[in-house]
Amino acid sequence: MQISKRISGLLGGGSDGWDVFNRARDMIAQGTAVTELTIGEHDIRTAAPILQDMHRAAMAGHTGYAAVPGTTSLRDTVAARVQKRTGVPTTRRNVLITPGGQAALFAAHMATCDVGDTALYLDPFYATYPGTLRGVGAIPQVIRTRPEDAFQPRASDITPYAASATSLLVNSPNNPTGVVYSQATLEGIADVCKQHDLWLISDEVYDTQVWEGEHISPRALPDMAERTLVVGSMSKSHAMTGSRCGWIVGPEEIITHLINLATHTTYGVPGYIQDASEFALTRGDALEEEIAEPFRRRRALAKQVLAQQNAVALVPAQGAMYLMLDIRATGRSGEEFANDLLTAHHIAVMPGESFGSAAAGHVRVAMTIEDAAFEAALRTLCSFAEGLA
Ligand code: PMP
Repeated sequence: MQISKRISGLLGGGSDGWDVFNRARDMIAQGTAVTELTIGEHDIRTAAPILQDMHRAAMAGHTGYAAVPGTTSLRDTVAARVQKRTGVPTTRRNVLITPGGQAALFAAHMATCDVGDTALYLDPFYATYPGTLRGVGAIPQVIRTRPEDAFQPRASDITPYAASATSLLVNSPNNPTGVVYSQATLEGIADVCKQHDLWLISDEVYDTQVWEGEHISPRALPDMAERTLVVGSMSKSHAMTGSRCGWIVGPEEIITHLINLATHTTYGVPGYIQDASEFALTRGDALEEEIAEPFRRRRALAKQVLAQQNAVALVPAQGAMYLMLDIRATGRSGEEFANDLLTAHHIAVMPGESFGSAAAGHVRVAMTIEDAAFEAALRTLCSFAEGLA
């Protein structure tokens, strides 16, 4: 039987860049202890009070079909949070609750791009981006950022592609680089979007993980609210990756259409998950800071370790749960380095090349294991790199 081109072409062919990850998982399955610094997931689980609230909501009967756009009270809570953090007037009519940020990314592109439209995104990129754009029938066009700019996108690199494009997808704080876009970067991006009438899709799922500088939502820049869709999620801010709860914030009219899309795709998010998400959000900043704290601590630890050697350079890591390490001094590609490190020391990191070609000669380290083991692994990585350099 024929399978649709839309789905069979989702990955676009070629290596998916997960070879090192898969090799590490095979080694683990065969009984070898591997230190995994690959996946973007907390080493803690969802906090007990959030789970207790989820249980309470389920036992109270919130187990039937929930309101497709999201419960009124969760939409209000998300709207209030966004308004408080950005100053942009936001009501529940600007909010659709989705089953996680990934579903929100897909829906946002469904709502903005027709089949054959060009959708822009930046390299290095989160692994699912090109497939998500292909999945809605858009033509993904990647734009490289540069290591010498610490991967801050240049508006002048985007402009040549903008005239024939429909949307631009950005992500700050950034996975995989840990870079937080500056005000100047975001103003440059906003100017390109306004000049060329682009939708801006702003993936802000790491907005509570900022170690240096501040998170600025481009929706708050002048005249940008009308052309920006913000993607948010409970996954990273509240260690709720498995609960699958996120949102899209944008102009009322497109949110109305996105609600229609939800009716015909996801049919909403379970009520008890939404109630627990609302409970978690109304705990306020203290809980979010507590969840972000281990990454803040490990980043400080990493800076100390990396300051003691010259073979590995840290891309200024201002946010998110990752470090991007420049290993070009070793003469190896990111892929060679990651494979050799796994073979020699049973430490798994992601090759920069897994996230596009702009981060060639780099590796991404997830700060997702406890401090002492993290520090030891980083020291081993550095001395391994020094041996090669
Ligand atoms: N965007 C980025 C940049 C991510 O790293 C992730 C998850 N790793 C997501 C979106 C999706 O997150 P979720 O679907 O769990 O909200």
